[in-house]
Amino acid sequence: QSPQPSRTPRPDPETGAAVKAADRAHVFHSWSAQELIDPLPVAGAGGAYFWDYEGNRYLDFTSGLVFTNIGYQHPRVVAAIQEQAARLTTFAPAFAVAARSEAARLIAERTPGDLDKIFFTNGGAEAVENATRMARLHTGRPKVLSAYRSYHGGTSTAINLTGDPRRWPSDNGSAGVVHFWAPFLYRSPFYAGTEEEERDRALQHLADTIAFEGPGTIAAIVLETVPGTAGIMTPPPGYLAGVRELCDLHGIVLILDEVMAGFGRTGKWFAAEHFDVVPDLLTFAKGVNSGYVPLGGVAISAEIAATFARRPYPGGLTYSGHPLACAAAVATIEVMADEKVVENADRLGTDVLGPGLAALAARHPSVGEVRGMGAFWALELVRDRETREPLVPYNATGEAAAPMAAFGAAAKKHGLWPFINMNRTHVVPPCNLTDEEAAEGLAALDAALTVADEHT
Ligand code: PMP
Repeated sequence: QSPQPSRTPRPDPETGAAVKAADRAHVFHSWSAQELIDPLPVAGAGGAYFWDYEGNRYLDFTSGLVFTNIGYQHPRVVAAIQEQAARLTTFAPAFAVAARSEAARLIAERTPGDLDKIFFTNGGAEAVENATRMARLHTGRPKVLSAYRSYHGGTSTAINLTGDPRRWPSDNGSAGVVHFWAPFLYRSPFYAGTEEEERDRALQHLADTIAFEGPGTIAAIVLETVPGTAGIMTPPPGYLAGVRELCDLHGIVLILDEVMAGFGRTGKWFAAEHFDVVPDLLTFAKGVNSGYVPLGGVAISAEIAATFARRPYPGGLTYSGHPLACAAAVATIEVMADEKVVENADRLGTDVLGPGLAALAARHPSVGEVRGMGAFWALELVRDRETREPLVPYNATGEAAAPMAAFGAAAKKHGLWPFINMNRTHVVPPCNLTDEEAAEGLAALDAALTVADEHT
């Protein structure tokens, strides 16, 4: 049960204006033209909701940036952070610290296969940076393959691996990264008609890419198990198993990036479980502690861990395994287990969000496709269902993006904060969302899609 605010606090527009003014004067925001943004001053949050200083409350169907898997301000996690702060707020990474040991144990127990050693980072990008470094050192090879339509983080190697337009301004072209196409039937790069054809052609394409790049030059293949930011594209059955086979054949390290898909999001602790695939390295962050304190990491196979058993791993971070972040992770994982949050996400997907979103698609011509699982769904908004022309062009900004902006404004007017990326809205609420909250969100989406329909 997610904790709820008993009521929204009284409006306090004066404080809101002061918060906004200081933000506008001094905060330099991510991924933004600084003078073209209008950040909402947030007064508080609880469970699946947050509220502003004007007295407006929003149901958060974004989970922040897809990280509050148990909602905001869960009392057990807040208490664990307070207790850890009182006992031992910080300590350097070279020591054994109770919160860190316990977090590593709880994570290792849940990761698939023999991924039993945990390297902690402060977030997802650093996890990807370190996973690729481990793979390069383990294999002695330089290149890394990653998919178009992916997101792996905003730092140097991670942004080079990323296969969306955010890479373009920062891509120096020299990171040893080669991009390939992963399967995506709705906008198939392989002109495939069925899931099986899409899978087979995608695997052939990857095998060809490996052959022409030179198998002996490739350290790793990095894939999001279920690509998130790029559109929540569940791979066809057998695809990831096929990638695993190619990796085994050529001695390539398989890195599955579960920064977004991990910790309950897909209705399993890790998305890899859906596909019976065990990677060599698995990256996580976000849901590991619901984003309460920055934390990420790499779960490492026994074989790769052995590479660094008697030879130092040449990488580290001042705050690796920070006690506050790890205490939050321990409490979050315990909450998820005790409150059956993973099971709830699975049930929500099958019984509530899946059917509810399908019903919306049946009513609204602007919905081209609904896809996803658990608490991890995307609606592809289109001008025309037949041609699948996106409601806004790829990477649209300004006026070109206006139809999606109108959709977003309508959702907010109905009390829903939606996740919008290009021509899609992602339905990514906390994994402990209740059925009543889901119904409230679906009703608001229904109203907002009526606005999107005007652009079909
Ligand atoms: N990998 C994936 C799959 C992600 O979704 C993200 C963040 N959206 C990252 C890596 C980067 O994580 P962070 O922003 O914590 O560095």
